Amino acid sequence: MSALSPFRAILCGVFVATLMPCACGMAQTASGEERHATSRHVVIISVDGLKPEFLFRHDLKLPAMRGLMKQGTYARGVVGVTPTVTFPSHTTIISGVTPSRHGICSNAHPDNDGHLVSYARYSEIKSPTILDAVHGTGLTTAAIGWPVTVDAPVDYLITPQAPDGASPLARQISFPDSLRAVDDDARSIWASLIIKRYNPNLMLLHFNDLDRMEHKYGPDSDEAAQTAQRIDARIDAVIVMEKALNPDATIIVVSDHGFAPLRHDVALSVPLREALDANGTSEAGSDKRAGRRFLVWSTDGSAYVLVPDARDRPFIQTELQRLKNRDDMGIDRILSETELAQAGGCPDAAFMVGMKLGWGVSGAVDGPAVRDIAHGGTHGYLPDQPSMRSTFIMTGPDIAHDHDIGIIDMRQIAPTILHILGVAPEPGMVSALGVSGHVRAARSSADAR
Ligand SMILES: [Zn+2]
Repeated sequence: MSALSPFRAILCGVFVATLMPCACGMAQTASGEERHATSRHVVIISVDGLKPEFLFRHDLKLPAMRGLMKQGTYARGVVGVTPTVTFPSHTTIISGVTPSRHGICSNAHPDNDGHLVSYARYSEIKSPTILDAVHGTGLTTAAIGWPVTVDAPVDYLITPQAPDGASPLARQISFPDSLRAVDDDARSIWASLIIKRYNPNLMLLHFNDLDRMEHKYGPDSDEAAQTAQRIDARIDAVIVMEKALNPDATIIVVSDHGFAPLRHDVALSVPLREALDANGTSEAGSDKRAGRRFLVWSTDGSAYVLVPDARDRPFIQTELQRLKNRDDMGIDRILSETELAQAGGCPDAAFMVGMKLGWGVSGAVDGPAVRDIAHGGTHGYLPDQPSMRSTFIMTGPDIAHDHDIGIIDMRQIAPTILHILGVAPEPGMVSALGVSGHVRAARSSADAR
């Protein structure tokens, strides 16, 4: 690429955003050579926090997504992973396995001092993904704003996190931090630009603004509704560009989790610490994390509880059970290590606490144990909560029109994408949704977790 190319690319991106796209029959590769568009094109658009219920609300204007449903196949809901949190969910969407296998346990993980550090680097994902499967096949890939993709094997990559060493494109285009791909409008422009210029076979695109609005104002707020409508228009712009180049492209819209209104935030560490202080004398175990006998690792509507020394576990378990019996703690369930493994959660924790809807876990270690929330929303509850279900819509050649496939398993999305691209699934992936002639639901596999 010449030194001027980035400027041309940016200008092109502006035109893409403001004018009708040009219906190019050819695409240029990064090296400048022209290549005919093929039918092997898939665009996956994730709308963070898009509850399927949004799609059935008649007060919302969502013409792009409703058009995809009319022209394609959609799920009533997607059963997600433990926990129903953004980074583990997005990693399951591209890997087809649970967090216990891909290793992205939440959005961030505790370091040795107990401070949470965001997952960012693709190398932190322990299982192969569709990006690995596609890499080396001759097909090209792009990812814009997709979590945990720093240093991913992607040809055209704009990460939502620190771009150091992130990608050929990120290295070539130097942005001030404020212009990193953190804004949905920017992500939409970048997606259209990359499609127009490079025509990748597989694009992952993540829109994040709806999640932010739902956290701040709640899933039923006007702010969330307006944001969903604005994202719908961005989806339309990307589809128009993709279809101009690849009329037979497969378009998939997904989300990572549902949402629920939040009314109370519980600092679980506070009563656990008080109980330990009252108990006081136990010297069991060497502390693994900066002197902590336990660590509450919040995943919003749930929390991992780490107990470094196994001898402390009975005491912590008793205390958690005691807290569960209190009405003012909002605890729904306590999963043992074995139950957590069965639920596909990460293996480091001794327990996972699942909260009742409306209750969240804060990471606070002091202050009041319970704080009331005036308005807002959260997710991260255990995935069998129906309100945590996410979205799946798919259109493309041979995909049935206006077809409701009921409830599906999030792990089925990755092998389905590989099937469409004609790429072999990675070992350990579940079976794809049937896509020959029409997509069939595989309800049984949603249960076989
Ligand atoms: Zn999310």
